[in-house]
Amino acid sequence: MNKIHRKQPGSKAFKRALKERDYYINRIVKEIPLAEVKTLVLENIKDIKKNTRKEKKLNKEFRSKFQRWTYSKLISRIQQLSEVGGVHCQMIAPAYTSQTCSKCGFVHTLNRNGEIFKCRQCGYTLDTDYNASLNILNLGLAQQSMVAGNMKGNVCL
Ligand SMILES: [Zn+2]
Repeated sequence: MNKIHRKQPGSKAFKRALKERDYYINRIVKEIPLAEVKTLVLENIKDIKKNTRKEKKLNKEFRSKFQRWTYSKLISRIQQLSEVGGVHCQMIAPAYTSQTCSKCGFVHTLNRNGEIFKCRQCGYTLDTDYNASLNILNLGLAQQSMVAGNMKGNVCL
């Protein structure tokens, strides 16, 4: 994926690299089993203030992988495909999701230590991103149960 910025814009090699990237992104999107799910719960990155450290870090990581793509563009693509597939796309504000224990709900900045999440209250230990995505799913489910009762087949990204 880092091949793109070494090519001359407009050259054949550049176009080929862009094509390869689009193929890769489409493959990621296709892996989401839209036919089997009713709801997608996504972290709403648009709620993150512009130019914050988190936004910069996320976009930097994204740009290095998917030249000229940003996380919000990928989300838009997923939303488009969800609409086509009749899947409800639920956006969740990511506040505190990386500091909250997905098991007991305890919130503390020190719960998070780089890649590893370790709860200061119950000792639950897991990958930081995985813990955050569980929190996003839990928030999504809590909001849905208020609105729609029980739902089956949720996927969290
Ligand atoms: Zn805990």
